[in-house]
Amino acid sequence: MGKSRRQFLRDVAAAVAAATIVRPRAGRAAEPPAPMPPAGAPVPTIIATWDYGLELVTAAQKALLSKRDLLDALEMGVNVVEDDPNVLSVGYGGLPNEDGIVQLDAAIMDGRTHRAGSVAALERIKNPISVARKVMERTDHVLLVGAGANAFAKKLGFVEQELLTAKSREAWQKAKASFWKKSPGERHDTVCCIGMDERGDLATAVSTSGLPWKLAGRVGDSPIIGAGSYVDNEVGAACATGVGELTLRTCASFAIVERMRAGADPSAACTAALNQILKIAPEVRTNPALQLAFIAMNKRGQVGAAVYRKQKKVFRYALARGAQAPALHDVAPLLPS
Ligand code: ASP
Repeated sequence: MGKSRRQFLRDVAAAVAAATIVRPRAGRAAEPPAPMPPAGAPVPTIIATWDYGLELVTAAQKALLSKRDLLDALEMGVNVVEDDPNVLSVGYGGLPNEDGIVQLDAAIMDGRTHRAGSVAALERIKNPISVARKVMERTDHVLLVGAGANAFAKKLGFVEQELLTAKSREAWQKAKASFWKKSPGERHDTVCCIGMDERGDLATAVSTSGLPWKLAGRVGDSPIIGAGSYVDNEVGAACATGVGELTLRTCASFAIVERMRAGADPSAACTAALNQILKIAPEVRTNPALQLAFIAMNKRGQVGAAVYRKQKKVFRYALARGAQAPALHDVAPLLPS
């Protein structure tokens, strides 16, 4: 690792340690009014899912403030989470499929060009978001899967390595007795992020190891443009974490962006997408394993989120705006109607 990369990671770690958590006011059933940007020129803003999103937005903010391109900033941010062996649902150390093999999904989309790149069921390469970006920039394709994605990555010099850590192997061995139709529990999620640069351009990036103990070859929502993420540079962007089959069945990220086009604010658009899922998949109300969350940002830089879950883990997103210190924001779960 080069000195500047080491310094970059040290700065990210120091900023993460100093970050605060913003909680919704007591008694609120939903997220308080979506954090608003200041009026006037666009302010660079990054939002990302979960607590580890803080590492991501901190790294991406640092990159944007040093005038790096928006896609570089999001890719660098996602790489930090992919490289972290303590994150058991993304990149290196992600939980494997039922055969004990880590298969990774990722997607990136550039609002400026409406181009996208993604990979699915990629093995032995710890930074699938970087391969997805190469698919977008070096080919006329959008999605590469399995062996083809691996061969493409190798041609571009990506290094293969074992992605199972002692921790993720142990979790797999413990769970091995009965995988199929077993609740995936709380041990899965996706790092996804939306960024806006100083010109007001938008992009998204998403990376995950998917559901643990999944059938080999199972692909979730994350690499599917319109399901796990979507951006329309004139309107806004959205992305998803949670059980991908539900998001896939509703093209949820596309639907959120279209709701924002019709005038909904980001939180309302995310909430409407969750309600749509509750309508088409009523089992979500009774099966605590079926949890989902969305984040969104509109063209003005206003952000919002919604979550439906019966499990204990609090859904948070990380937000970095301008040069302000990044913070984590708790999202109160949707109360089913
Ligand atoms: N959306 C991911 C998938 O279904 C998993 C998650 O975010 O929990 O693969």
